[in-house]
Amino acid sequence: MKTHKLVPDLFIAKVIDIPLDKLNAMQKKAMIFDLDNTITEWNNPDIKDDIIEWFELLRNHEISACLVSNNKGPRVMEAAEKLGIPFVAKATKPRRRAFRKALEVLGSTPQETVVVGDQIFTDILGGNRMGLYTILVSPISSKEYIGTRIMRRIENLALKRLGIKHRT
Ligand SMILES: [Mg+2]
Repeated sequence: MKTHKLVPDLFIAKVIDIPLDKLNAMQKKAMIFDLDNTITEWNNPDIKDDIIEWFELLRNHEISACLVSNNKGPRVMEAAEKLGIPFVAKATKPRRRAFRKALEVLGSTPQETVVVGDQIFTDILGGNRMGLYTILVSPISSKEYIGTRIMRRIENLALKRLGIKHRT
């Protein structure tokens, strides 16, 4: 049982450095990914080649994936198509509804599922509430939605108190 719902199980600066062998050893079978500033820059449809290649590696590790984003449908769909994975858009994270939907799509239990995201108040809080294994990554870029920028200030204070150095 985690002491604090804002604390991730693991902090890894970049998605492509997530230890997949470790996740295999932990019997994890599915991963839920945030989109903006986790997979792509905020509101930029480009996905870097190293990330596309890493999703191939994920398939080789027999871990299935799904995007869960608070962003709008067409934007999330475009990224999901590029990665060849399903998606849930307009997710209203940290609410649990979209996480439940993703688990249904993935056909996995909370114990078998990992969530990866760059924000503690949406991705990590939501994942911990669902009983998922939570991985915090550093945001890809500092460009983001104004609402997120305001949340970051509060987030940075919380991270400092939790002793996590979020940005590299
Ligand atoms: Mg994000």
